[in-house]
Amino acid sequence: MASALTEKLSRLVKEMRGQARITEANVTDMLREVRMALLEADVALPVVRDFIARVKEKALGQEVLGSLSPGQALVGIVNRELATTMGQGLPGAELNLAAQPPAVVLMAGLQGTGKTTTTAKLAKLLTERRKKKVLTVSADVYRPAAIEQLKTVTKQAGAEWFPSTGEQKPVDIARAALDHAKRHYFDVLLVDTAGRLAVDEALMQEIRELHAALNPVETLFVVDAMQGQDAMNVAKAFGEALPLTGIVLTKTDGDSRGGAALSARHVTGVPIKFAGTSEKIDGLEVFDAERHAGRVLGMGDIVALVEQVTANVDMAAAQKLAAKVKSGESFDLNDFLAQIQQMNQMGGLSSLMDKLPTQMSAKAGQVDMDRAEREIRRKQGIIHSMTAQERRKPELIKATRKRRIASGAGVQVQEVNRLLNEFGQMQDMMKKMKGGGLMKMMKRMGG
Ligand code: GDP
Repeated sequence: MASALTEKLSRLVKEMRGQARITEANVTDMLREVRMALLEADVALPVVRDFIARVKEKALGQEVLGSLSPGQALVGIVNRELATTMGQGLPGAELNLAAQPPAVVLMAGLQGTGKTTTTAKLAKLLTERRKKKVLTVSADVYRPAAIEQLKTVTKQAGAEWFPSTGEQKPVDIARAALDHAKRHYFDVLLVDTAGRLAVDEALMQEIRELHAALNPVETLFVVDAMQGQDAMNVAKAFGEALPLTGIVLTKTDGDSRGGAALSARHVTGVPIKFAGTSEKIDGLEVFDAERHAGRVLGMGDIVALVEQVTANVDMAAAQKLAAKVKSGESFDLNDFLAQIQQMNQMGGLSSLMDKLPTQMSAKAGQVDMDRAEREIRRKQGIIHSMTAQERRKPELIKATRKRRIASGAGVQVQEVNRLLNEFGQMQDMMKKMKGGGLMKMMKRMGG
């Protein structure tokens, strides 16, 4: 994670604190760091320039609200603008299948970006979630292995595959597959195409012909998140050759910060519809612009988190617990309580999750936060109703004591049991973790 950027920004934020407005002077330093971060994430230079100009325009002179420092406010503007650029709120992010069946989806992109894999992932998603009857076909006549690969993965997806060979012309394959799909009442035809290592005119001509023959309702440009600065030129070439309707960003599970997405969005103007999240056949998600924006910047709203964490958390306690866990000492209910309290001190779970770098909070984001916070308070109440001895050795708590504890905390006995189970799981996890995720993170930020 971009710790260097985080450090720089939090330093700048501190320097800026006390200033009531975002001004030309204090914005310039911060935007320089943001610019660097975007370039490091492999966003193409013209795209970065354009982006920074837009942020500057939005930021200048803006009043800083309430408790926000100018630094925090600017980070907020950057994040929002990034999410917007990434297509947040853009209509048409769903896969459009509203066509006279079969709805044809044409896959385009360079070789190795993940077209074949994505074709199969889409086949699975449409078959399972949208209950469609799906046919796949490969028009990659240059690589017989690619045709075989599609056959294999289509089978895994539980969809049907239409045979093709290296001797046929791509357009003939497409027509035959379309005819077959019509006659056998398929809802969707997914067409995988040949890619090259770089854009070339013959390839573009071929895919244009395929497009004309198939009249697809969706033409998806597949771009690899690891693809560097060049993503912009590739996207531009495909966007000029074809009326693209969407982008699939693959390999978002890799190390790269995925700046390619921003470049591809910028030059094509079409929404990013899906993100590839693993090599596996179910590794495809509907694209989440906001989440991805935080990742490109490499920080989420981490500046605010750093400040909040260092201000509120008892670092000594956190470190003591981390050390304890690391040394393999047992994790008891007192530690469990301390951890719950620290979460509360950081402004509650919801604000914490909002501020975490996107990758970390991605999973947590699906939790109902209000409910989670209420639960935390109830748990505190339960642990507070126990004796010191019981907190150290929860295994001593018998049924009669559980009832007392429950009535002391004003909850049902089942809730006490649930807490003890959860604690047991946490204890196991702590043993496995050696070092403790949350603690380690707080230590790094605060230390
Ligand atoms: P194509 O040449 O465009 O058809 O690319 P392939 O579908 O053959 O994919 C190239 C490689 O990328 C394969 O090894 C895939 O397993 C891998 N791949 C594709 N999508 C993803 C993804 O979302 N995550 C990861 N980790 N690997 C992917």
